[in-house]
Amino acid sequence: MNDHQKNPSFTVVRRAERAEQPTLPPVLDNLLRDTSTPVLVHLAERYGLKRVPGLARQALIERLLRHLSAVQLEDLTDDLIAARYGGLSVEDLLAIALEADTRGGRRARPRLDDMPAADAMLIEAAPGRWVYTMHGYDVRIDLQKRRLACGCAYFRFAARRGALCKHLARAFTLIPGTYAREGLINLLVSRGYGGPDTPRWRFESLDEAA
Ligand SMILES: [Zn+2]
Repeated sequence: MNDHQKNPSFTVVRRAERAEQPTLPPVLDNLLRDTSTPVLVHLAERYGLKRVPGLARQALIERLLRHLSAVQLEDLTDDLIAARYGGLSVEDLLAIALEADTRGGRRARPRLDDMPAADAMLIEAAPGRWVYTMHGYDVRIDLQKRRLACGCAYFRFAARRGALCKHLARAFTLIPGTYAREGLINLLVSRGYGGPDTPRWRFESLDEAA
């Protein structure tokens, strides 16, 4: 097959290798950059790659990308997400989401304690969708459409920067845990590791009149 390429130059090979990099899905690319070497070593072994002692981090990543099929790379993405968030509770995930919301800013972090669960009332529930009323505000979570909405004044501004208010944070603790974890992990991955084509969450203020 390569008869007409008897003398490939070293530089051409190097360029070809580099050219593969941009086709990597952004979420996988960004997750790999943000995953520790021990976790990468463990995952490489799980995918049948023998351990190479002392292999540098970048070489380890390139080895994984070279050996895994497209389907395995999708599995690897799920594995990296599970390694990062899989062991965390809804409260842990909310803490990360709220921490990231206020990072670099001086805004006070919304606190779950300020929105007691006992003051929330479920007014509508459909598969993957819940509407609550809390302290006079409508609060909606729609996991399938990746939409979050609240009517409070705080969220009118928070929604513009994709941040949660205390009502939405509380709502995530009230919906079934499996859904809450799945939704929050998807939100954190999309916000923290997504690229231009990654499905984004929409934050909708219901406080239009104000
Ligand atoms: Zn709110």
